Amino acid sequence: MIIAIDGPAASGKGTLGKRLAAHYGYRHLDTGVIYRAVAKALLDQGANLTDEARAVAAAEALDPDSFSDPALKSQTVGEAASVVSALPRVRAALVAFQRQFAATLPGAVLDGRDIGTVICPDADVKIFVVADAGVRAHRRTQEALARGEAADEAQVLADILKRDERDKNRAAAPLKAADDAHLLDNSHLDIESGVRAAIDIVEAVRAGRQSRP
Ligand code: C5P
Repeated sequence: MIIAIDGPAASGKGTLGKRLAAHYGYRHLDTGVIYRAVAKALLDQGANLTDEARAVAAAEALDPDSFSDPALKSQTVGEAASVVSALPRVRAALVAFQRQFAATLPGAVLDGRDIGTVICPDADVKIFVVADAGVRAHRRTQEALARGEAADEAQVLADILKRDERDKNRAAAPLKAADDAHLLDNSHLDIESGVRAAIDIVEAVRAGRQSRP
């Protein structure tokens, strides 16, 4: 089974993805980390973030062992990832890796921006997670502070809104809900309630499928 979770920055999709995967015994891929790793490679090289040839080379040289690098979580790398991820050839270079991961048995959970629309259009369950921008900014700020980083909530909110705009309006695989995605509004749910709501969606889809003649 493939579970696709999409949504804007800091909507909680990563936590939901991880928890759903643990619940069902599946593997989980936070696909944002892939774009962050490509962006960080360019930042480390001092390269221009819109240098498509360099970005494609970084995407092709991607090392999944680097995905756990805590430096990938910073606001700067997230912002850079949003620029790099708008480059069509970079996205194309990363499709096969994500689809291979999705094919893992007995199942996989992938979260990102275009999982239900482009990477896994035939996913068994698609969830589109939304949350108020103010709530997302507050969560991101708290996470950054907990990591010992300086974070100003108003600035984090401005960055999130800018990133949403860029992710929604780019030509290549923009952030949008697939027509058959189930909407989950995570604005006022704590983690446990959000996970429960996501499991309820998966179970409802499974039950619907089983009851088909
Ligand atoms: O989800 P996260 O904040 O880690 O993603 C960083 C950036 O990577 C996003 O702002 C988005 O531009 C890009 N991204 C993407 N497609 C994905 C996952 C992330 O374009 N599937």
